[in-house]
Amino acid sequence: MAISHNLGFPRIGKQRELKKAVENYWKGNSSEADLLVCQHRLQQEHWQWQQQAGIEYIPVGDFAFYDHVLNTSLLFNVIPQRFQEVLKTSRLETYFCMARGITNAGYSTEACEMTKFFNTNYHYIVPEFSHDQVFSLHADELIQQIKQAQALGIKAKPVILGPLSFLYLGKTKDDFNKLELLDKLLPEYSKLFDLFAQAGIDWVQIDEPIFTLDLADTWLNAFKSTYNHLHHEKVKLLFTTYFGPLNNHAIISDTKIAGLHIDHCQAPEQLDEILAIFPTNKVLSIGIVNGRNIWRNDLKASLAILAKAHNKLADNLWVGPSCSLLFSPVDLSYEKKLDSEIKTWLAFAKQKLNEISVLTQAINDGESSVAHELKQSAAIVQQRTQSSRIHNPEVKQRVVALTKTDEQRQHPYAVRQHAQAQELGLPVLPTTTIGSFPQTQAIRQLRRDFKQQKIDANTYQTQLKAEINNNIAIQTELDLDVLVHGEPERNDMVEYFGELLNGFAFTENGWVQSYGSRCVKPPIIYGDVSRPKPMTVAWTQYAQSQTDKPMKGMLTGPVTILSWSFPRDDQAESQTSLQIALALRDEVIDLEKAGINVIQIDEPAFREHLPLRQADQAAYIDWAVRSFKIASAGVKDSTQIHTHMCYSEFNDIIEAIAALDADVITIENSRSDAELLKAFERFDYPNQIGPGVYDIHSPRIPSVAEIEKLLTQILKVLPLKQVWVNPDCGLKTRNWDEVKTALANMVSATKKLRQKHAVAVVEHAGS
Ligand code: GLN
Ligand code: ZN
Repeated sequence: MAISHNLGFPRIGKQRELKKAVENYWKGNSSEADLLVCQHRLQQEHWQWQQQAGIEYIPVGDFAFYDHVLNTSLLFNVIPQRFQEVLKTSRLETYFCMARGITNAGYSTEACEMTKFFNTNYHYIVPEFSHDQVFSLHADELIQQIKQAQALGIKAKPVILGPLSFLYLGKTKDDFNKLELLDKLLPEYSKLFDLFAQAGIDWVQIDEPIFTLDLADTWLNAFKSTYNHLHHEKVKLLFTTYFGPLNNHAIISDTKIAGLHIDHCQAPEQLDEILAIFPTNKVLSIGIVNGRNIWRNDLKASLAILAKAHNKLADNLWVGPSCSLLFSPVDLSYEKKLDSEIKTWLAFAKQKLNEISVLTQAINDGESSVAHELKQSAAIVQQRTQSSRIHNPEVKQRVVALTKTDEQRQHPYAVRQHAQAQELGLPVLPTTTIGSFPQTQAIRQLRRDFKQQKIDANTYQTQLKAEINNNIAIQTELDLDVLVHGEPERNDMVEYFGELLNGFAFTENGWVQSYGSRCVKPPIIYGDVSRPKPMTVAWTQYAQSQTDKPMKGMLTGPVTILSWSFPRDDQAESQTSLQIALALRDEVIDLEKAGINVIQIDEPAFREHLPLRQADQAAYIDWAVRSFKIASAGVKDSTQIHTHMCYSEFNDIIEAIAALDADVITIENSRSDAELLKAFERFDYPNQIGPGVYDIHSPRIPSVAEIEKLLTQILKVLPLKQVWVNPDCGLKTRNWDEVKTALANMVSATKKLRQKHAVAVVEHAGS
């Protein structure tokens, strides 16, 4: 018999119950006991859903109040020194303190770092290892959860992060090789397996996602001794990889692991080769239901693949999702407003459980045992492929007809620079901001009222215009050079455009955990993307009419719109990206026609969308750069195109950033200790660039002296005429007091430097 299993279930709850419970606890409105009650209720509900769906092995240990990597740190007592004080009070408080830097009990210290989990939008808390790290197992809670599940008749399969991925994902303060810690860590894993054995566990899912990366040999080779050590007489290990192809085929045959899980959704190409060499005495789990999207599975196509594997593996075939379902929203049945046709195309985590179960049953009992489900799936697949909602021949034709010319500005940058200087007449070190200004309670309320039709369009527009006027007045007073309208009409930089474009759908409750209690609700791109009418022109044109200074038009770029949505699975991402690019191109040209001569196309997701494996990166950079150029290149030489990037390290893709050929890029810099500037020692950035001088993620206001120092540092690696002065990112999360003071300091520092350089020029001329 083939066996169905799941790799992990979202913990936030169908109505974000966990978010509410955790935030209540943080606010001091509930106790630790209340929080545990919520945990038990959610776990129980999720286990039972899995059981009712017919999933045989059900994950336990996938629950976390904040993050499962942080859970692993606590499991092995990896708690940095600065949390020892709070540790005397409670482990839960310590846990939250590591995540957030503060606790209810009043402790406050620097939180552990947080970063993206592989190429997902989920953020994990980075384990912090010291060279004299001591590991000790604290498994009471996990074992208790296993017992609770078992008491409900659940066949529990504990899920833990494997030792190699755990070490790899962590960081070290002092300089040493993390792998040196293995010898001390492995015995704790072995003790854990003993406890599992005592609890009657037969299979453990041990997640080692790093075995899909381009791993250095030291890590690849550490595999063998590690898993020889971890081999256990009683519990069998399912070595679990996801997000890409297995990078070390030695894992398949060479070791003591009892089973292997592979991600068939992200890396379908590996299956044949793996099947060809797969030993008959091991389990192969095929991740066939996509854990990272929201599309209904094509059951027939999946069955064909599973049948082939079943032929070879017989009883040793397991059927599961590609990765944990953590990356998918919880339950489609809560969507009441979704278009009914589009809704039939979707499956959220709870629906995906059924798909796994149906596929397993089809393998075991024959297709006739699930004839109804297969028929329904086939009908939906067919209907979706042919739906007129998806296909817009005109859009497809436009993408096909794109030529090299469409990607190119009329003249090279040197010529454009001259035309723009004449057109804009800006001083050296021009100052600007990234787009948004503080989003006050009043603005949010205004948008809500309009959306719920509590106020009419006229009232809404009048009040937004007043908001824009206020933003302009403040910027004029501050004496900034290139102004923005402040984005008061936008709730979110992707959703705003998605709502105005064809091909996007929105859920009411399609939440996915981003970090801690924070969830996001990505739009769904289901069809060919086109722009029915201009999206930002009226607001920008109004703003420009209120000032003589240049008003910057603000757009979100194709890669970012794509990355922060659920993309289509029926065409390549590059195609969707090019379609969005064409819609934006029309918007850019319309802005120009409306008299806007500075236009910014934000691409904060440009770096994060870079594929994990080097072999795939060039192709991505190719279409990502092409998309940006298509969006931006339709304008005159004298129109200045800006882009903006943040949230990542850019040094390794600085060439690709230059290839965008934006006239100006504003880029996050001040937070990373001016790490970015190192890139310019190695690489001559060709166009203009504004490395951020104000960390907008912090309430701290940088002084004039500080900004001056940072600018001086910048001017050491970049020529004066290339440099812009701006904050790291948009200002929407800050308050007005902070923003006004910080920007005033930024302008003062800039003026001081202009002065210094003017004097230097005069002196130079005189000498
Ligand atoms: N223009 C956007 C803003 O200012 C950019 C946001 C971002 O880069 N994340 O808010
Ligand atoms: Zn930004």
